[in-house]
Amino acid sequence: MNLIKVIIAGPRGRMGSEAVKLVTNTANFALVAVIDYKYDGMMLSDVEGFQSISNVPIYSKIEKCLQNVEADVLIDLTTPEVGMHHARTALAYNVRPVVGTTGFSKEDLMELQQNCTEKDLGCIIAPNFAIGAVLMMKFSQLAAKYFADVEILEMHHDQKLDAPSGTAVKTAEMIAEVRETKKQGHLNEKETIKGARGADFDGMHIHSVRLPGLIAHQQVLFGSDGQTLTIRHDSYHRGSFMSGVKVAVETVMKQNTFVYGLENILD
Ligand code: NAP
Repeated sequence: MNLIKVIIAGPRGRMGSEAVKLVTNTANFALVAVIDYKYDGMMLSDVEGFQSISNVPIYSKIEKCLQNVEADVLIDLTTPEVGMHHARTALAYNVRPVVGTTGFSKEDLMELQQNCTEKDLGCIIAPNFAIGAVLMMKFSQLAAKYFADVEILEMHHDQKLDAPSGTAVKTAEMIAEVRETKKQGHLNEKETIKGARGADFDGMHIHSVRLPGLIAHQQVLFGSDGQTLTIRHDSYHRGSFMSGVKVAVETVMKQNTFVYGLENILD
């Protein structure tokens, strides 16, 4: 059994703490370090909630971490700015990034793709690690062949930094691959309150709801003459993302290409 040595950036976060559980509970994964700007030089076991996890050093800077620790994969669950720096630096040190952090720009993704090619290394960026969400996106792409009119309604907890969600953007991109470009709604439509019709992506609209109590939910609504079709996915707990993280860590070790979206690595 080949041991996969993993670094996690953002271990105290809602997603990062689930990833720590996943990595420490998976037989062929080893957590070799974490990146956390608040506890540089300490051990993870010194941090509240992680007392049972031994021998995992904390680094505040990824460069120092990668100079000191031998690793195969970096899991990043932080914020877009720092996540991009982490992914770029990991590749420079021949470590494969698995990124769940959302909010990367098109330019960021293109840069990472180029870095992967130059380094001949794998990298997986997945705006949503929940298998059900990936199926929701695939089913939406299928439906969009027959329904050109679609509105995406994404609903998240109110601590989320980016809007629209990475999942909503990815869904819109997948739909746009098969849907004929169409400006939806009435030609003379006017917003009397700015933002009422949501964000415009290739003529379809994305609406972002932020409320405490929610985790991650998305509804894709299709309409045509006399009928509607609703495709919905709900994540009720962040554990729902971890089976996807596990698949991504295992897969990134076997490939030398850039992958954007978990759907591209599932059979
Ligand atoms: P969160 O609870 O706010 O966690 C983010 C963590 O990153 C926090 O612990 C934060 O520390 C830490 N952090 C911030 N700056 C850092 C730095 N410079 N170095 C190291 N750590 C740093 O957020 P979350 O809900 O876990 O989400 C994390 C990311 O994953 C977001 O981008 C979110 O949209 C995304 N997400 C992805 C999926 C998916 O399936 N791909 C699912 C859910 C969420 P402090 O709190 O101390 O600042």
